[in-house]
Amino acid sequence: MENQTIKGLENKLNYKPDKPFIYDYSLEQLQEWTKEQGEPGFRAGQIFDWLYVKRVGSFDEMTNLPKPLRDKLADAFVFVTLTEITKLQSKDGTVKFLFGLHDNHAIETVIMRHNYGNSVCVTTQVGCRIGCTFCASTLGGLKRNLTSGEIVAQVVQAQRLLDPEGERVSSIVIMGSGEPFENYENTMAFLRLMTHPKGLNIGQRHITVSTSGIVPNMLKFADENTQINLAISIHAPNDDLRSKLMPVNRRFPFVEVMDACRYYIEKTGRRITFEYALIGGVNDRPEHAEELADVLQGMLCHVNLIPVNYVPERDYVRTPRDDIFEFHRILERKKINATIRREQGHDIAAACGQLRAKHMEAQAR
Ligand code: SF4
Repeated sequence: MENQTIKGLENKLNYKPDKPFIYDYSLEQLQEWTKEQGEPGFRAGQIFDWLYVKRVGSFDEMTNLPKPLRDKLADAFVFVTLTEITKLQSKDGTVKFLFGLHDNHAIETVIMRHNYGNSVCVTTQVGCRIGCTFCASTLGGLKRNLTSGEIVAQVVQAQRLLDPEGERVSSIVIMGSGEPFENYENTMAFLRLMTHPKGLNIGQRHITVSTSGIVPNMLKFADENTQINLAISIHAPNDDLRSKLMPVNRRFPFVEVMDACRYYIEKTGRRITFEYALIGGVNDRPEHAEELADVLQGMLCHVNLIPVNYVPERDYVRTPRDDIFEFHRILERKKINATIRREQGHDIAAACGQLRAKHMEAQAR
């Protein structure tokens, strides 16, 4: 039943550009299209190569295609244009973009530079309807789903930025604005494109999808049997507190989310990550750590502790440094694997949705 609701939501919020985005097409769909045009079989592979390996920005640059085919492509498709509205560069190398879309909505994409590689954090929806109380992305509600091609374009754009340095996007985290499991089909199509061996060929184990706990699609994802990592935004050790912080918990209660996590672990044999945003005085007390450790006891999991910054709309404050370490110590003492997230882009308003919120505010003035 819930699945039908989610499908309905996907349809209602899906965006159809006047002409399809070329990045929305898989290699197989391009093969079908070129066949319909009476073109030889190898043309689709050439187009795919121009898109993902040579990463051109127009059909005219696809110089090994005959001109009439390039014209046909330009008649049938458009590239996703991500217009750079803002680009902020942090001292630690993190680059945060606010991109304008075809229909004037704005989305955020972040490139993080680590010593083990470059990671891109992508957005899957314009805004978000999940309503997590510590998150700026949800403030204006949900506007629409991104197409798979609009998610793809964020990674291609990031790769273009890295190209002059000879660097590549080595990992992807789907942790930007939006709930990917409420835009499930497009997210999965995006993942298939990103991991395609003839495309950017990003290893499944280098991709993480983060969900607020949309149970039916967590189960569906487990059944897809991929090597892609799953992260759950848990943020509380029990039902009551989680419902206060994340209204989605009333739709999919804590215990059901935990059952779905166990199902995923059993089905895939993979470790699950729990994201836990520490909010001063709200969910960061030693008793919360004890309770969380008890709930997670025996699970193949890892806890990622994320100290939140000041959230003016909610009066949320940061957990003091010593309390963060104490929370971590309690988990470790109880044999729960945990890390404290290293902050990146702290100096450039890096929290999810802040840039877009500022942009919307300025537009409304
Ligand atoms: S944290 Fe994620 S799921 Fe929650 S409101 Fe923000 S974008 Fe949506």
